[in-house]
Amino acid sequence: MCEKVLHGRNALVTGGSRGIGRAIGLRLADMGATVFINFTSNEDAASQVVAEIEATGAKAVPCRFDVSDNKAVKESVSALVKEHGPIQVLVNNAGITKDGLLARMKEQDWDRVLDVNLKGAFNCIQACAMSMMKSRWGRIVNMGSVVGTIGNIGQANYSAAKAGLEGLTKTVAREMSTRGITVNLVAPGFIETDMTAGLPEKVKTDLLNRIPLGRMGQPEEVADAVAFLASPAASYITGHTLHVNGGLVCQ
Ligand code: NAP
Repeated sequence: MCEKVLHGRNALVTGGSRGIGRAIGLRLADMGATVFINFTSNEDAASQVVAEIEATGAKAVPCRFDVSDNKAVKESVSALVKEHGPIQVLVNNAGITKDGLLARMKEQDWDRVLDVNLKGAFNCIQACAMSMMKSRWGRIVNMGSVVGTIGNIGQANYSAAKAGLEGLTKTVAREMSTRGITVNLVAPGFIETDMTAGLPEKVKTDLLNRIPLGRMGQPEEVADAVAFLASPAASYITGHTLHVNGGLVCQ
């Protein structure tokens, strides 16, 4: 239980049905926000998160749309705003990987990863911007990755998208600064979720050897960083990248 500093605010968490997004949704609800849990395919998982939030007495609404689909994002956001009021906290968390060495990477795998991870954030920011600007208060947190900073073999598409999000964050932070809106990026290292569950044991062991804290992170540890950036306590921080990686990269 924490102070309800987001009481009366609506928060949209993209990819809120599983992993890091689920932890963020629960955390923002605990801070008093009404949380819109976005997903694209796994309706059962989204309903479960909504039920978990509602069991605490907070309010949550599931919303299915593909963040890469500009029209679907606009229609869904506008329906949410019409029914519940402006979205004042936006967490662009939805993300996918489609790994492969650059020399063999299929064009569609490049496009899809850029479309979901990078264009998805653009679509959601643009859809939420007007009502957020009218509120003259807002928090946008984009989900980057340590690989956007250091690169990773087999992830040319994903690391390019995550590095792109850092540039997007810095620019939108400048563009929206006069409207009381902060825009920041959280860059996790290796976190235990479905996304990393399939990593081969050898890759995991090599990784753990490189992480000073000696373990993978938990979704809740990323959610805490997002919660801080979404809170009034972070009112003078914008355009920043907050690394949450157990010391893997120190910036
Ligand atoms: P995850 O467990 O695979 O969950 C991904 C979430 O994104 C799911 O809720 C999924 O919805 C949703 N999603 C996927 N494509 C979508 C789309 N087109 N439109 C809307 N929602 C979509 O992933 P995670 O590990 O929690 O990762 C969350 C974010 O953190 C991602 O941006 C990822 O790149 C970033 N990240 C993760 C790690 C890590 O180690 N796990 C490290 C650095 C950064 P469905 O359930 O409907 O499929």
